[in-house]
Amino acid sequence: MNFYVMTLFPEQFDAVLSSSILKRAIEKGLIKVELIDIRDFSGNKHNKVDDYTYGGGAGMLMAAPPVYNCYLYIIEKYGLKNPRTVYLTPQGSVFDQKKAKDLALGQDIILLCGHYEGIDERVLTRIVTDYISIGDFVLTGGELPAMTVIDAVSRLVPGVLSNETSADTESFNGNLLEYPQYTRPEEFMGEKVPEVLLSGHHANIEKWRREQSVIRTAQRRPDLLEKAELTEKELELAGKYISR
Ligand code: SAM
Repeated sequence: MNFYVMTLFPEQFDAVLSSSILKRAIEKGLIKVELIDIRDFSGNKHNKVDDYTYGGGAGMLMAAPPVYNCYLYIIEKYGLKNPRTVYLTPQGSVFDQKKAKDLALGQDIILLCGHYEGIDERVLTRIVTDYISIGDFVLTGGELPAMTVIDAVSRLVPGVLSNETSADTESFNGNLLEYPQYTRPEEFMGEKVPEVLLSGHHANIEKWRREQSVIRTAQRRPDLLEKAELTEKELELAGKYISR
């Protein structure tokens, strides 16, 4: 899986890409992240990429030509044909696990990070295929959202997680949150690990985990339950925990 990131601040990605699971995934060649500095395409000696907005108003806007030329450079250098091009923007549809799975199906993704007041509309309409927001709040730039997308999508690339099945049992699969989990010590501040988890009885453990997922989702994200496939019994269980 290849990510091509168009950004004014490539250095912001260093910490995220040089540690833990993403670092290993890059080393193993499972993912590739190319950081391309939009400023290199400014076309002027002061490397200026922003300008005042027509019509007035506060703040500066990233101009169309550097962004477009940066895009053309990526397309040509890496031989991409109509790649999925994501603009990270608070005006996009909110990113979720479903979208992460959808993006993980492809091979190449261009991620475009805005800054200042955003980017001239005329380049967006020409190159962007997906508008993605990471939530209903406004950040200073698209770099953190791009890192969020890279992280969430990379975990779905086969081989990136050491245990291939772990992504399947996590929150949002089947529109349920994951059950509570415990590790050693067996007792912490007087609270013991639920007995069933120590029993070694796999069927009972699975049953307990499923019930806990339903309860947790009812308590914390009842909105998800509408799309979850629940039995009559599970629906009844959820009903007891949804706070009104
Ligand atoms: N003026 C824009 C608006 O009102 O929609 C906001 C611009 S924001 C200050 C600057 C850049 O940060 C955006 O171009 C976008 O790339 C990024 N950004 C900010 N909030 C975001 C969010 N919630 N999700 C994704 N990207 C975001």
